[in-house]
Amino acid sequence: MKPYVVIGAGPMGLCTVRRLAEKGINVLGLEAHSDVGGLWDIDSPTSTMYDSAHLISSKRMTEFEDFPMREDVATYPRHDQLKRYFQDYATHFDLYKHYKFNCWVERVEPLNGEWRVIYRCDERQYEVIAAGVLLANGTLHEPMQAQFKGQFDGEQMHSSSYRSADVFADKRVLIIGCGNSGCDIAVDAVHRAKHVDMVVRRGYYFLPKFVAGKPTDTLGGKLRLPNWLKQRIDGTLVRLISGKPSSYGLPDPDYKMYESHPVINSLFLHHIGHGDITVRPSISSLTAEGADFSDGTKGHYDLILHATGYKLHYPFIDRLHLNWKGDAPQLYLNVFNPLHPNLFVMGMVEAAGLGWQGRDEQAKLVAHVVHLQQTAPRTAEAFFSRVKAKSGQRIDGGMHYLPLERMAYYVHKADYLSALSTEMHELATST
Ligand SMILES: Cc1cc2nc3c(=O)[nH]c(=O)nc-3n(C[C@H](O)[C@H](O)[C@H](O)COP(=O)(O)OP(=O)(O)OC[C@H]3O[C@@H](n4cnc5c(N)ncnc54)[C@H](O)[C@@H]3O)c2cc1C
Repeated sequence: MKPYVVIGAGPMGLCTVRRLAEKGINVLGLEAHSDVGGLWDIDSPTSTMYDSAHLISSKRMTEFEDFPMREDVATYPRHDQLKRYFQDYATHFDLYKHYKFNCWVERVEPLNGEWRVIYRCDERQYEVIAAGVLLANGTLHEPMQAQFKGQFDGEQMHSSSYRSADVFADKRVLIIGCGNSGCDIAVDAVHRAKHVDMVVRRGYYFLPKFVAGKPTDTLGGKLRLPNWLKQRIDGTLVRLISGKPSSYGLPDPDYKMYESHPVINSLFLHHIGHGDITVRPSISSLTAEGADFSDGTKGHYDLILHATGYKLHYPFIDRLHLNWKGDAPQLYLNVFNPLHPNLFVMGMVEAAGLGWQGRDEQAKLVAHVVHLQQTAPRTAEAFFSRVKAKSGQRIDGGMHYLPLERMAYYVHKADYLSALSTEMHELATST
């Protein structure tokens, strides 16, 4: 049997390979780096990690449920502990044997219902004809670049290439963007830079990592409240715990809680409150020495760091095969492709608290569908009529997510998991 090719050995690729192999499916994993772990391996040429990065969600909310992290691992482990965790995972489930490492996938093209996969390992080009392809090459690699008028003569970098706070030593620094990475990096910069300014264009909900000694994302329990009630209760709680952003000189959010990804950081507001980080409004123009801001003020900098996020990027395949419309491929459950029943986009899913277990649930369903394609083709065909009918549907649980590019593949965690499990159940009962 021709193999199913999985691109990537990050958390998503690993659980995908595991679930396919468990079903007895011939699987070939191709990974650009020399080991597993995805972006959590800071030494990988594709990693966007930085020295100080730790989990933002807590370990029990993030780990694979049937492979818990050791008790002695911190609640919010550092990236190197996670790299070890994924190495242990791959060893435990015997996944290394399925992978070829140091192999970059360069091209994926359809070929009479199958796929030609062209890849390069150590300067040699190879080709494999695959029964199916599963793209698990990650969503946080390709920088989203903001465009500004004017030109800055100093140093500029995107957070994707930021590694260590040494880069800030004795510099006047401007950080653009106030997402989770931007806030982490600003906190790093405070200890090394001459001073740190940060451009914050819109309001965010800021949460500390712990409340009353418990990881913040474990509060609230499993009780499912209507969106409006949860948003109101949690919005009020955040206000009580962190205060109004405007009391720190930050814009207040003009949207409800959970309509965008919150910032989880215990130190960012602390440093603003101590005058270590100066908040700036949007940039009206870059200048040779720094930037002019929309409130008429000016700043002079040595380094401008763009923490402007990432965009989806599948450079080895034509977009038309991905049913790409607007900012993202339009796929059923963010995975299943209405144009090609044997092409799956794995891990193109973001939600507060989805963790790697949510990704594993996705992998289990995909492996089940691939298995049905081989053993019960009629059931698989019926499933793909649903895929065609529903590929434009978004699982937002009725939330009005902000119309941002990075929110284009955001889902409502509880509804997403429930949709995966409903499909699994329907497939099980219809065979
Ligand atoms: C600083 C930071 C903090 C984060 N914190 C959290 C958190 O707290 N909780 C959470 O759930 N998520 C967090 N994330 C999100 C993170 O993306 C996921 O945890 C997870 O790593 C996604 O797994 P993945 O396997 O989809 O992608 P990745 O981990 O990005 O792995 C993709 C793999 O594909 C390989 N690859 C790419 N292109 C090719 C190619 N052409 N050929 C062969 N191989 C290729 C790469 O080398 C890589 O190994 C964080 C991300 C960052 C950057």
